Parts: sequence; structure tokens; C-alpha cells
Amino acid sequence: MELFDAHCHLDAPPLAKSVGEALDRAGRAGLRGCLSAATSLESCHATLALSAQWPAVRAAVGVHPHDADTVTDAMLEEIDALASDPRVCAIGEVGLDFYRNESSRDGQFRAFEAFVRMGRRHRLPLVIHCRDAHEALIASLRRCGGEAPVRGMIHCASGPPEFIDAALGLGLSISFAGNVTYPTAGALRGLVARVPDDRLLAETDAPFLSPQPVRGRMNEPAHLVHTIEQLANLRGAAPGAVAALTCRNAQALFERH
Ligand SMILES: [Zn+2]
Ligand SMILES: [Zn+2]
Repeated sequence: MELFDAHCHLDAPPLAKSVGEALDRAGRAGLRGCLSAATSLESCHATLALSAQWPAVRAAVGVHPHDADTVTDAMLEEIDALASDPRVCAIGEVGLDFYRNESSRDGQFRAFEAFVRMGRRHRLPLVIHCRDAHEALIASLRRCGGEAPVRGMIHCASGPPEFIDAALGLGLSISFAGNVTYPTAGALRGLVARVPDDRLLAETDAPFLSPQPVRGRMNEPAHLVHTIEQLANLRGAAPGAVAALTCRNAQALFERH
């Protein structure tokens, strides 16, 4: 299988301690690359260091919506400078999270829209987190660019079918994570068929969100195979074919510059 993990956090504990071993196991499973997304300024630096150390690791720089209230103009300037680094292939993880509300809604909108503009300036795709903020997210993207196409992905897909359709309509790709394998995830599984082949991505979100067969253990990029198998089942396709197309899509979206 050819695998590309479209969203993980290699700098997050406890995975950060065993990145080399995890990438070895993933390489034996067929991993061609992964996109490691930063969640804070400190994490941007850590992710860039991992990308320098491991050729399979591509970096995304940004601040997670949970920490949006900590985003200052100086921090945005620093991340904007990091975004010019050739190892940076995306802006993320950025977005809106109205489920945990760890940052104020105003702060989340302000940070997210600044990162959307940063992505445009650098011609980098966005890695978007969206939880219980589906309409707000689409509205926010339209505020930043009207109906102009948006390059990027919705990571850990969720939400009503209308949200997936609106995100596809804006030009975004849709990435499914290990939660698509959970017994209670019927509604989420129902979204998989809405995504055309050329917009489908698969991710682990490691070290979080382990797929059902390895649930309760730390997640790592090698576990992507379980999500691929579930997606293949739902699309009536061979796992190898789904692996190959999600790998190709991710390599095209996170092209190195
Ligand atoms: Zn997320
Ligand atoms: Zn994430």
C-alpha cells in the first residue's frame, strides 16, 4: 500500500519521544509521507525541526483554535516568516472549535481569518479543524475570499452533509480520521460517499484518535491502514486503490515548493 498520513502531530507527547521508530513502522506499512501540523508557536518550531530530520515529514505551521486567544500580531509575524521555509507545505492546524470553546469566539475568528489570509499570501493550502462550528466556518471562509476557491483540507471530517458539500463547493478536500471506524460513527460513515475521488484524504491525527482495532493505544501513522480499509469498504473499492488515490491527492495538495 502507498500511504500518506494527511494530518498528524509528531511533536505531541508521547509520540514525540519515538518519532523515528514510528516512522520506521509506518515506512514498512507503505508510508510515503505525512503532514505534521503545528498547534502553537512552540509546536511550529518543533515541527520544522522534525521535518528537517525526517524527509518523509512535511510541516504545517499555525495555531490551533483552542489557543486562538493567545495569538498576537508578533506571533503572526513570526509564523508568517516561518511559512517561507521550504519545508512548510501548509498553514495549520487552524480553524474554529465551538465544542470545547477553549478560546473566545471572537479570538477564534480573528486568528482563523489571519491564517486564511496568510495561506493566500504564501500560496499554501489550509489544514482546517472544525468542530461544532460548521456554518460559521463556511461563512468565515467566504468573508475572507468571497466564492473564490480555497485550497486546503477539512481535517477529521464531521458535520452535516451540507457542510461537506459546502466545503467541497469552495474547493476544499475532505480528510477522514480513525473515528470513521468507531461503532457509533454511522453518520460520519454516511459522509464518505459524498467526497469525489480527487478530493479524498485520510489521516491519523496521531497521537490522538486511534482507529477501532487499536483503540486505547497511542495512535501513530502506521495505523492509517485501518482507516483506509474502512474507507475502501464504504466506497466499494480495494484498499490498495483508496490508499493510492489518497496518497496521490495529499502529495499534490502538500507539494513542496
Ligand atoms: Zn483538529
Ligand atoms: Zn490535529
